Formats: sequence, structure tokens, C-alpha cells
Amino acid sequence: AWQYLYVAILIFMLIATFFYLLNTINRQNKLATMRKAFVNNMTHELKTPISTVMAAVESIQRYGAKDDKERLDKYLKISKIELEHLSLMIERVLNFDTAETNGIQLVKSNFDIVKTVESCIESSKVGLLKQVDFEVHSTLDNPIIYADESHIKSVLRNLLDNAIKYSNSPVHITINLDQEKDNVILKIKDNGIGIPKEHLSDVFDMFFRVPSGHLHNVKGFGLGLSYVKQVVEQHGGSVSINSEVDKYSVFVISIPNKKI
Ligand code: ADP
Repeated sequence: AWQYLYVAILIFMLIATFFYLLNTINRQNKLATMRKAFVNNMTHELKTPISTVMAAVESIQRYGAKDDKERLDKYLKISKIELEHLSLMIERVLNFDTAETNGIQLVKSNFDIVKTVESCIESSKVGLLKQVDFEVHSTLDNPIIYADESHIKSVLRNLLDNAIKYSNSPVHITINLDQEKDNVILKIKDNGIGIPKEHLSDVFDMFFRVPSGHLHNVKGFGLGLSYVKQVVEQHGGSVSINSEVDKYSVFVISIPNKKI
């Protein structure tokens, strides 16, 4: 009887190993496909602003725009917006890369989170092609938090940019800041396309983008939310989503902040 037991255990272990390997291979394949999509996306996204700036510069040089003040201004403005966009993209990929290799190193200080939200809103307004309005509500008695200001800014920029990207014009974004026990709760709500229930937990995965035909003329690398999650968790906080397709998405961030 013992022999049977051994054989049974052996067979069980073999089957378990087989499924484990299958699962690993599947995951690796999925990751490889997603990485490929990422490189494609990135090449495409870097090319767009570069060719726009190139066209603007050529117009200035060759087609006499430098003698026409109005056109010159217009081309310079376009170039500036595109270069800002390019530098933001590069910063994100670099941020992400450092985070992946070294983990995120937090440099904490005391800062006013409401002011930071407002300044992020101002910078996300640059070069908007849609009509977007923002509403900020804070019930915080004391808006000073102890956290990494620069990473929190990137988190906010990522969430605001997504809210704009994944909503049709006119976009309405509401930001709420509240204190719940020892945490500051930050909610960013949009009136966008929403996220299907089955993908709510995937969107925080590296390279993941909700598969959808019409959506993916929207640019992106699928890195933003995984970075957001890393930063927030590194602060000892958490992120969650609430969403209804074609109606809204709310991203909720909780950051520990002991009331003194
Ligand atoms: P991306 O660069 O693709 O925007 P993210 O990691 O920021 O990457 O987001 C992952 C995916 O989650 C997006 O591709 C999109 O499908 C979905 N998503 C993120 N934010 C929103 C939002 N506010 N509304 C609807 N879908 C969103």
C-alpha cells in the first residue's frame, strides 16, 4: 500500500510541476507580447512629437514663417507643447525604469497636498485639445502631509492625464481630499469611458491596457498605473478603483498621514 501512496504522490507532484511550468510559460509569453506592444507604442509616441517639432522648425526655416510674427509664434508654441510632452514621457519611462531596478527611493518632506493638486491641475491644462473642467473639494483641516512630493506629483499627473485621455469632451474631473482616521484620502473622478469590471484589477499591471478597438488610438505605455501603485504602496498606502463603463472612473488613493 505504501508503494501506491508514493506513486500517487509522485504523479501528483509531476502534474503540479507541469501546470506550474505551463502557467509560467503562459505568463512569460503574455509579458513578452506586452513588452513588444510597449516598444511599438513607445517608438510611435516618441516619433509623433519629434516629427511635429521638425515640421514646425522647417516651416520657420523654409517657408518664411520667421517673417510672419503670428505664424512664428504659433509654430514656437506648438514646438514647446510637443517638447514638454516629450520630456514628460521620457521622465515617466525613466521614473519607471529606476523604480523597476532600484525600487522607489522616497525623499519625504512636509508639503501642502491641496496646493500640489492645484499645481498639477495647472500643468495638465497645458496643450489640452479637449474641453476640461476641474473641481477640487477639500475637507482637510490641515493639508500638510509628510511624503515624497515629486513622486506624489507624478502620481497625480498620471491620474489626471488618464482621466482626460479616457474621457470624451467635455471632460469633468472632480478631486476630493478628505481625512479618514490616519489617512488622507484622495479621489479623482472622471466622466469617461470607464473600465470593465473584469479588468479593474489588471490595470495596475505593468504594460496592461484595456483591450478595446476604439480606445487605442489613445496613446499610452500601460506603465502609469503600475507606477502609481508602486509609489502609493511605498508610502504605506493603497489604491483602488470604482468604475462604471461609459459613465465614470474614480481612483481612490489612501496615504497614511497621522493627524497631530
Ligand atoms: P496607459 O499609458 O495605457 O494610459 P496606464 O497604466 O496609465 O497606461 O493605464 C492602464 C490602462 O487602464 C489604460 O490603458 C486604460 O485602458 C485604463 N485606464 C486608466 N485610467 C483610466 C480612466 N481614467 N478611465 C478609463 N480607463 C482607464
